[in-house]
Amino acid sequence: MSTFFDTRIEFIRGVGPQKAALINKELNIFTYGEMLQHYPFRYEDRTKFYKIREINEDLENVQLIAKIRKIETIGDGRRKRLVAIIEDETGEMELTWFQGLQWVVKKLMPGVPMVFYGKPNRYGRKMSIAHPEMEPLTSLQEQRSFFQPVYNTTEKLRAKFLDSRGISKIMEVLVPASLPQIQETLPPEIIRRFNLQEKKAAIQQIHFPSGLEELKRARFRLKFEEFFFLQLRLLKLKLTRTEKSQGQVLGQTELVNVFYKEHLPFELTGAQKRVIREAFTDMKSGKQMNRLIQGDVGSGKTMVAFICMLIAISSGAQTCLMAPTEILANQHFEGLKPYAKLMGLRIALLTGSTKKSERKIIHELLLQGELPILIGTHALLEDIVQFKNLGLAIVDEQHRFGVAQRAKLWAKNERFWPHVLVMTATPIPRTLAMTLYGDLDISVIDELPAGRKPIETVHRYDKDRLKVFGFMRQQILAGRQVYVVYPLIEESEVMDLKNLMDGYESIFRAFPEFPVSIVHGNMKAADKDFEMQRFVKGETKIMVATTVIEVGVNVPNASVMIVENAERFGLSQLHQLRGRVGRGADQSYCILMSKYELSKDSRLRLDTMVRTNNGFEIADVDLRLRGPGDLMGTQQSGLTDLLIADLSKDATILTMARDAAQNLLQEDPLFEKPENVMVLRQIQVQRKHEMNWSRIS
Ligand code: ADP
Ligand code: MG
Repeated sequence: MSTFFDTRIEFIRGVGPQKAALINKELNIFTYGEMLQHYPFRYEDRTKFYKIREINEDLENVQLIAKIRKIETIGDGRRKRLVAIIEDETGEMELTWFQGLQWVVKKLMPGVPMVFYGKPNRYGRKMSIAHPEMEPLTSLQEQRSFFQPVYNTTEKLRAKFLDSRGISKIMEVLVPASLPQIQETLPPEIIRRFNLQEKKAAIQQIHFPSGLEELKRARFRLKFEEFFFLQLRLLKLKLTRTEKSQGQVLGQTELVNVFYKEHLPFELTGAQKRVIREAFTDMKSGKQMNRLIQGDVGSGKTMVAFICMLIAISSGAQTCLMAPTEILANQHFEGLKPYAKLMGLRIALLTGSTKKSERKIIHELLLQGELPILIGTHALLEDIVQFKNLGLAIVDEQHRFGVAQRAKLWAKNERFWPHVLVMTATPIPRTLAMTLYGDLDISVIDELPAGRKPIETVHRYDKDRLKVFGFMRQQILAGRQVYVVYPLIEESEVMDLKNLMDGYESIFRAFPEFPVSIVHGNMKAADKDFEMQRFVKGETKIMVATTVIEVGVNVPNASVMIVENAERFGLSQLHQLRGRVGRGADQSYCILMSKYELSKDSRLRLDTMVRTNNGFEIADVDLRLRGPGDLMGTQQSGLTDLLIADLSKDATILTMARDAAQNLLQEDPLFEKPENVMVLRQIQVQRKHEMNWSRIS
């Protein structure tokens, strides 16, 4: 069934096949419906006209009325450009075009007052605007709006006069034609409760605001709607899964009690206790658990994992813990072995380098149910690894594993899907987590164990290197160890390696008295491991490395982290790196080295690191700087559906929309009630839209 909104844009009066093809290509917009959703990204005051004498390069876009005095073409071939000299009673300036010259020439009317609009720049002594919007003064409507919409467009579109003004003209035709066809998508109850503008009004107002208040309400309404349907979809997914998947009831705690009473080496933090309770509630519920545990580096996720394992084992099930690298799997194994031993529980490690004979034993013990705890890497996922009764699978550092791999874990138990705990130290703001991991429940360990000394972070320039070396020496002499990390940027591996090797050389020369380790991506796994182990054992004092050490490695005696070219790292990555220190009793330090000249973003990143140790705060800034698109999994999560809503800024609206979606699902999970008919219709529209896309791309 095709609707009005599926009509192709070439049929909008004044568009036609040629322009339509260009818009298709440049903006990915094909239909009326998509065009209507090409919302302005900001609004400008178009009541103000500048005089030429007032214009300078510091101004953003300016609007002026002037006459063209002279037109000439300068240069030839690819450098050809068109220059027009315009004047008003206060002076003259230039307009320039580099593309679409034959079109532009036709539009220029010498001697006639015209309205020009664009960003002024200075060329030598002259001010100039490149590719300005323009129209004859006569066509100017009586009053211009305070809220002239500004639309996204591209160079190629601008060259064909599909600049923001050109798109606005299309809207002037399309919006009035569409209004009678637009149907409400939200139930009346929700409209009322959140005092939302009606859909029709919102579309009208977003393109042609009649005032600030109306514009605000239109934006609110449209953002709410986007979040609402996104959340509805995710929650529905989760609902379907929990309905389908029965879980093994794991409700016993004998081993936990023994461990608590006799072996627990420290008091758990309140946050650790809460998260364990949340997981326990899931595990004994009869539904399969799919829970994400977010905890900043050092928040003690491993102990939470171990106690959850004890719950599962008390209830007669087996457990596994999967880590993304061999180094990490090894560390988890070494870390948990003593506890397992105290509890009289067998534990084994399975990685790519486990010997064949050992593997065989592990496989057999698993099948017989004699091995309650298995730690490992991806090797755990191989089909040959079969359990007698896997009850709990824990995945550390989730972002390195995909959803598909999680599903492979589920398949390891034929009767019941095992409960799944995913642990991540990549803090993501709650709003984003709700969206990215909408199908997981989320627990947050938002408290560090007591008595931790906050890491001291400073920013130093390359010229201070000698002082930094002096500080390193002093710390090493006091018995500590030091990391020196170099960035790794894939585009130029050779350069990076050279960079790293040069750094190694200079450290080697500066510290002839201390043994130095080096680890980088080009080394064989065994060599990497060997070097890493030397550092772990304290045989080497300085570890020079690329970001391979970013995740999880635990060397409590290492108390100094030096990050070279820190301006080249992302914020989350810097935070992860910093988390490698501050794990022991000693005061730890993180020194961010950079060149002197820094971009605004780089400076904000470094300043943020110096200012705070809080992973969630850092994640917020990161999200603002990079946008959610850069975070993983955006494709599947439906983030790309957000046209006007912004996860980094609209958290409050998201929470409201999620609540509303949750309520609706509780009351009417199949959208059968007559008052919710529009919800079902909208879901179907979106589904059809998605299918169209999968056909096209
Ligand atoms: P992460 O969350 O980064 O994986 P870990 O589980 O490696 O953190 O814990 C970091 C360190 O803190 C470990 O040495 C661990 O033994 C210790 N630790 C964990 N919980 C507590 C606690 N409640 N009190 C004191 N130390 C703790
Ligand atoms: Mg960890």
